[in-house]
Amino acid sequence: MSLGEIRKRIAAAELVAGREPGSVQLVAVSKVQPLARIKAVLTEGQRLFGENRVQEAASRWPEFCQQFSGVAVHLIGPLQTNKVKQAFDLFQAFHSLDRARLANKIADEAQARGHCPDLFIQVNTGQEAQKAGVLPAEADDFITTCRQLDLPIRGLMVIPPVDEEPSLHFALLAKIATRNGLDQLSMGMSNDFESAIALGATHVRVGSAIFGERVSG
Ligand SMILES: *Cc1c(COP(=O)(O)O)cnc(C)c1O
Repeated sequence: MSLGEIRKRIAAAELVAGREPGSVQLVAVSKVQPLARIKAVLTEGQRLFGENRVQEAASRWPEFCQQFSGVAVHLIGPLQTNKVKQAFDLFQAFHSLDRARLANKIADEAQARGHCPDLFIQVNTGQEAQKAGVLPAEADDFITTCRQLDLPIRGLMVIPPVDEEPSLHFALLAKIATRNGLDQLSMGMSNDFESAIALGATHVRVGSAIFGERVSG
């Protein structure tokens, strides 16, 4: 599939859902993809990208940002507290805020720099032991904690369990966001972004459908 086709499908899904045209942002997930493929997508005009590892992002985005103007990169994978400083240098948003220690660390760094990336709180709606994110029952309290730290919480993010109907998880995320007055939702990947848009996604994170299967190793 191509970038153009994905953009068309996003526009169609916005229309079907009665959403404002352009209200959904496409985060092109470039993790593990070869530089040539990323460059091709940049040349086609895409400017918003997602990476799931700080180290990998550091190895290529500073150079792409010099070559192309207006590039933004969002961190969509886990953030370790010892990488917060570096992450501030690389990303315009973090989608994976999920614990108090990390929130404190980000607040300290934001204080020191006088600015902070946009933040999404990751919610583990499937309550999976191995997955990051706050539990649904803890989400309201965690959002309050983050707001008390003056953090710019923009919305929520979810990665649904692989073997469950994603729309149930999208709906739950939307419900938690609404009752907390948050209007941005980072949800939907290559296989389910249209149903995420139907349920209110503002940021869809699409990798393999744009770039092709990830080359491992
Ligand atoms: C890899 C990844 C994606 C993109 O997955 P695709 O199925 O390739 O679209 C989206 N979100 C997160 C958090 C990811 O790690």
